[in-house]
Amino acid sequence: MRLSSLLCVALSLAMLVACGEPAAPAAAPAAAADEAAYSMADFARVPKFDAHVHANVVERAFLEQARADGFELLSINVDYPDFPTIARQRAAALELAQAEPLRFHWATTLSMQDFGAPGWAAAVGADIGEAVEQGAVAVKIWKNVGMIEKDADGALIMLDHPALAPVAERIRALDVALIGHQGEPHNCWLPLEQMTTSNDREYFRNHPQYHMYLHPEQPSYEDQMAVRDRFLAAHPGLRFVGAHMASLEYDVDRLGAFLDRFPHATVDLAARMSQVQYQSVRDRERVRDFFIRHQDRILYGTDLTQGPDSDPDEFRRTAHAVWTSDWRYLATGETQRVDMIDADVPGLSLPRAVIDKIYYRNARRVYVRGGNGD
Ligand SMILES: [Zn+2]
Repeated sequence: MRLSSLLCVALSLAMLVACGEPAAPAAAPAAAADEAAYSMADFARVPKFDAHVHANVVERAFLEQARADGFELLSINVDYPDFPTIARQRAAALELAQAEPLRFHWATTLSMQDFGAPGWAAAVGADIGEAVEQGAVAVKIWKNVGMIEKDADGALIMLDHPALAPVAERIRALDVALIGHQGEPHNCWLPLEQMTTSNDREYFRNHPQYHMYLHPEQPSYEDQMAVRDRFLAAHPGLRFVGAHMASLEYDVDRLGAFLDRFPHATVDLAARMSQVQYQSVRDRERVRDFFIRHQDRILYGTDLTQGPDSDPDEFRRTAHAVWTSDWRYLATGETQRVDMIDADVPGLSLPRAVIDKIYYRNARRVYVRGGNGD
């Protein structure tokens, strides 16, 4: 079904090109490109989907701001020690989904606890099956696989570990997406002063255990990417979403090559917009072309997180500020100051049809079965 809709898109594009030529005007007026883009005035009314958030508490601020700004949400549970327990994250997701099922979607995750014990994969598979029955539309596997968790012999458990294969197969059979966050931004393997964005610098200053420049005995950046690619090659039927631009955020050309190589993969933009902006202030057309070329494979996402310590009003202000800033950058041609890269960043002014896919239709297709995202 997904393949046929992709073919449909390809066919209609081909027909557009084939049929459109004779009737096309000799030269489009310069204003046409601008007219084809959205403005800030369109922000609240255009349907949008933030495909990577963490609503970790039973509190309505997130949903209320999403409603005000025209967003659906995918809240992703994660096996992350800084978050509430997985059970609490799931309980929050179930309650919020019940409150507003058309706006709030959620992804379950898997715990690496007891990995290697007999029956581990079967128990994890059963838990994922139960979550999907409860409404989960995807499964998250976090960077603890590849960076933290070790097997009985003390070796790091990498994504292509044979014991994870039956779990991947179960996810494929359930026909939900696997969201993979493997590795880290390229910056993670650099000293703090060489990192390209201040948000990465701050994160790795505060989380030295994940700052791989300090741990040269750990797998390299290229090791992490190669393992993930081997895993994808071994599971061609699996719908895979590379969280955080599949950790290839530093080079849109390399990310484009990844998407070309793995047609069953998409990527989300969560927490990496400044990396994209870092590239577009140096070569705007290169980045703009990337979005247009891969318009069916990119999901808008932020990583906005409402936790137990978040003040609801402040969280709403932050969410609105992040969402409007990203819209200004992707959808309009307006310039804004981006402190994370200490630069004035002109917007990409992407065509409306591309924005509609990145901001809504792709996420509906990947995550909401029976949705209207084609
Ligand atoms: Zn996240």
